Amino acid sequence: MSQEGDQDHSDRKKYEFRKVIEDLKNYEGSGTQLVTIYVPEDRQVSDVVAHVTQEHSEAANIKSKQTRTNVQDALTSIKDRLRYYDTYPPDNGMVLFSGAVDAGGGQTDMVTKVLESPPQPVESFRYHCDSDFLTEPLEEMLTDQGLYGLVVLDRREANVGWLKGKRIEPVKSASSLVPGKQRKGGQSAQRFARLRLEAIDNFYQEVAGMANDLFVPKRHELEGILVGGPSPTKEEFLDGDYLHHELQDSVIGKFDVSYTDESGLRELVDNAEDALADAEVMKDKREMEQFFKELNAGDLATYGFEQTRRNLVMGSVETLLISEDLRKDVVSYECAECGSTDREVIDRRHSTPGHECSDCGAEVATADAEREDAIEHLIEIAEQRGTEVKFISTDFEKGEQLYDAFGGFAGILRYSTGV
Ligand SMILES: [Zn+2]
Repeated sequence: MSQEGDQDHSDRKKYEFRKVIEDLKNYEGSGTQLVTIYVPEDRQVSDVVAHVTQEHSEAANIKSKQTRTNVQDALTSIKDRLRYYDTYPPDNGMVLFSGAVDAGGGQTDMVTKVLESPPQPVESFRYHCDSDFLTEPLEEMLTDQGLYGLVVLDRREANVGWLKGKRIEPVKSASSLVPGKQRKGGQSAQRFARLRLEAIDNFYQEVAGMANDLFVPKRHELEGILVGGPSPTKEEFLDGDYLHHELQDSVIGKFDVSYTDESGLRELVDNAEDALADAEVMKDKREMEQFFKELNAGDLATYGFEQTRRNLVMGSVETLLISEDLRKDVVSYECAECGSTDREVIDRRHSTPGHECSDCGAEVATADAEREDAIEHLIEIAEQRGTEVKFISTDFEKGEQLYDAFGGFAGILRYSTGV
């Protein structure tokens, strides 16, 4: 499979995950009775079963009879699901959710869901029992996986690493031999100052060398580089052009941090939050600007469900743009009289409406209508046609317009189709 294909596949998977997570987040347990288990790919399933068995017997101590029963039922249900797996979980691990959720009117419903192979690996085993399901670690995996280079330094110590999605990966560190400001007796002040500057310069070169080795080979995938440290170190480092010139252009910001060890990398990412959010939205902005450019120039743009779908089927769509906030189903009505098919996009919460065939006017029964998720419907066609799929946030004006004015679907075309 081509890389583009893999990308489409992961977009679809992300979307499917996001939908399940939305459902899970809406559930609530009346007590501490909703169980979530994160299982990394290298954790033996038999270990997980043993852990669940242990929790099951400990749950016998829960005072409230109702909560006790609910927790034990949830654990039993999880154990049943685990039977379907061999020695190890699927690639990237899996997440299990089970529990009795409030169904209104004092009733509860038993819900059990298993999400396999999330877009990023589950990093550690986690057992969680609370009044809601633990979805945050999964949600973090679904944010766009931007790749950023990280550098923190002062005159004594430096660390470089990656930010991949929300994951920070320290890679290399260095410490300097830069002498303190206090010179020893017998040294001339001038000579001391010169040696000290040389040592600082050497250290900056060493840090830049580490950063260059790491980032230059990946410079085309990099969304940007963040540099952190106290003043004036980070300024000296950046203004002194120590970094490879192509990397220098990728620096999206410099930030004050008080630590330059591995924890400094985390501090750097925390402090750069706004800049990172902007960078994320910038990608979406570029896509939408391209769309508007084509729309204004003429015929290399399409929008709305039906037109976008027709272009997709023709294979003419280069990039499919979908509003991240869209929650719609598409209903396909096949007319029994004349055989033509109409499609209607409806809100996910609404029931399937009745329909009259647009060709012959015959009534199409709701029971004969086929209803599915509108986004999945289009992504499936996109996958077959090698179309790139982009989800666009509504956090900026043109992103909102995609949702409000264009029905949430649009496409940038490879060639004009007149549709
Ligand atoms: Zn008809």
